[in-house]
Amino acid sequence: MAVEILIAESAIRDRVVELGRRIESDYAGKPLTIVAVLTGSLIVLADLVRRIGIPHRIALLQASSYRGATTTSTMLVVNESFAPDVSGRDVLLLDDILDTGQTLAALVQHVADRGARSVRTAVLLRKIGRQTTPIEPDYCGFTIPDAFVVGYGLDYNDDYRHLPYVGILKD
Ligand code: 5GP
Ligand code: MG
Repeated sequence: MAVEILIAESAIRDRVVELGRRIESDYAGKPLTIVAVLTGSLIVLADLVRRIGIPHRIALLQASSYRGATTTSTMLVVNESFAPDVSGRDVLLLDDILDTGQTLAALVQHVADRGARSVRTAVLLRKIGRQTTPIEPDYCGFTIPDAFVVGYGLDYNDDYRHLPYVGILKD
């Protein structure tokens, strides 16, 4: 399938530098743990943490959402084999994309329930016109139109994650 470039590699690099600087100054002197949501946020995680020049920890979370056969609601299941110790930590949850908002909202609650001192959110991308759960990301890389995107960590059937840019998948 063809991929049309939406956000070029250099634009992502520049934006990640800016986000890193903001996070660095906002969390100076605080016990920061960046908790990245697998698998889509791995690439932005690796680039972002190298732009945050203050001590911080890195942890991972895995969550899957299931749509019930008889209902329209989705249930988020968090894989407990990734159970980062966040008690007393200032957690920054990092995800690849905010779509409906359900995933991030549920994970904020999950991390707060485990004793984090504070929980904020960062996303590389935010899709406009799709949100059903009210959540404002504290850090957002780019706002994008309602299209299915891949690359820079985001997949289609586990392919395309390695692309150095974000692109729209054309079928
Ligand atoms: P939400 O709970 O906000 O609806 O869903 C967020 C998750 O849906 C993301 O973490 C991502 O895994 C997936 N997702 C939503 N939109 C896209 C998209 O355009 N491309 C890809 N590859 N994944 C998406
Ligand atoms: Mg995801």
